[in-house]
Amino acid sequence: MNPKQRLIEHWTSLGIIKDKKVIEAFKKIPREDFTKPEHKEESYGDYALSIGEGQTISPPTTVMIMTEELELKKGHKVLEIGTGSGYQAAIISKIIGNKGKLISTEIIPELAEFAKNNVKKLKIENIEIIKHDGSKGYAKEAPYDRIIVTAASPEIPKPLIKQLKENGIIIIPVGNLVEQIMIKGIKSGSRLIQEEIGQFMFVPLKGKYGHN
Ligand code: SAH
Repeated sequence: MNPKQRLIEHWTSLGIIKDKKVIEAFKKIPREDFTKPEHKEESYGDYALSIGEGQTISPPTTVMIMTEELELKKGHKVLEIGTGSGYQAAIISKIIGNKGKLISTEIIPELAEFAKNNVKKLKIENIEIIKHDGSKGYAKEAPYDRIIVTAASPEIPKPLIKQLKENGIIIIPVGNLVEQIMIKGIKSGSRLIQEEIGQFMFVPLKGKYGHN
């Protein structure tokens, strides 16, 4: 069994990933197109890999858990904070389809370029990558059906809650620089109903509402 198939087997046999759409997206998007040349061989290792600029592409299991918890549907409008390699973005783009749209924000210009190239090579057209401090959200395209933050946030930034649609879902790792709890929030009126998904480790969110 190749390492990609082994991951699928692991997720499905243990019930870690239940949504077939998520598994299909994982099958279709080549993770090796989002890793650096020196890491191609370990593209399906279940750990974070350096993508330069002190940043990382998250482990496959983390990406898939976050994707499943987003409860994505075709046609959704999604905001991502922390494009990094563009891999998480590509997975989301497969599930929301051509009628959906993903706005992905990245604060480091070199990584925004890296991700743009990776996505372009796969001819993905429903992703817009923007060099922007996403901790403030991206009001211009709001409101969003879903928001995903792939960097450690000290708290849930208020603008993100504001830019979420009613019944919309936000997935965000909240905590200090060492460890974070993944929070799933569902917007209900002026409230955010919160659930804890588990403990994770991300690089820090920077910017106005990030760790400075
Ligand atoms: N989702 C990525 C992994 C992201 S690593 C992937 O699939 O590869 C987290 C990324 O968040 C880093 O690239 C970092 O530069 C970016 N980041 C940190 N603070 C940010 C901010 N305020 N706005 C946008 N991007 C930010």
